[in-house]
Amino acid sequence: MTKITLIPVLNDNYAYLIETDTVTAIVDPGEAQPVIDALEAKGKTLDLILNTHHHGDHIAGNEALVKKYGARLIGPAAEVKRIDGMDKTVAEGDHFDIGNEPVDVFETPGHTSGHIVFHLPQAKALFSGDTLFSMGCGRLFEGTPDQMWQSLQKIMTLPDDTQIYCGHEYTKANGTFCLNIEPDNGDLKQRVDDVIALREAGQPTLPVTLGKEKKTNVFLRAGSAQRFAEIRAAKDAA
Ligand SMILES: [Zn+2]
Repeated sequence: MTKITLIPVLNDNYAYLIETDTVTAIVDPGEAQPVIDALEAKGKTLDLILNTHHHGDHIAGNEALVKKYGARLIGPAAEVKRIDGMDKTVAEGDHFDIGNEPVDVFETPGHTSGHIVFHLPQAKALFSGDTLFSMGCGRLFEGTPDQMWQSLQKIMTLPDDTQIYCGHEYTKANGTFCLNIEPDNGDLKQRVDDVIALREAGQPTLPVTLGKEKKTNVFLRAGSAQRFAEIRAAKDAA
């Protein structure tokens, strides 16, 4: 049974440890030491590093983890010049395995031009990096609203019971913004209440199912690229 462990790194990033039958992988280690601590507590070593995009808060731990464990690095083909030391590049439609766990790669440009997400259909998990956040989405540093809307549409095709593992704990602030857009959305009000309770208890708000996001995330609920662009602009100005 594959196990996924959330590891807080830096201020509000999450790295995710994936333990399959034979292989241990980390997604987006923005920092090495918390990952090393988690591995040592489990008596594990690291085989594989997965990067969703080139930003430092997702890759800064790569080098130290490769040095310590000899882990292989897999990342987006379109960002090969911006991430040092990739052993394997992947692009839209590519498949690989983490031990007994198959992985499908989707390209989701918008936040960065080469951003990818990793879908584990058997484990019902999506590592969405800075493309999709709970009740939010990434800022458009290197892409257009239309590109990001298309990227989110790809994610929307996955099963509703897919667990979304996002790159940041931005959920509470995102929820406040969503309530400004949809003040009468009962599912949204409930999710925001739940999120406030989780944070007050010092708990993460992730993962969250795609089904819940479809009911509460105003970016997924925009309905058109044009409306998405308006909502994204409002969030940027908030
Ligand atoms: Zn980023």
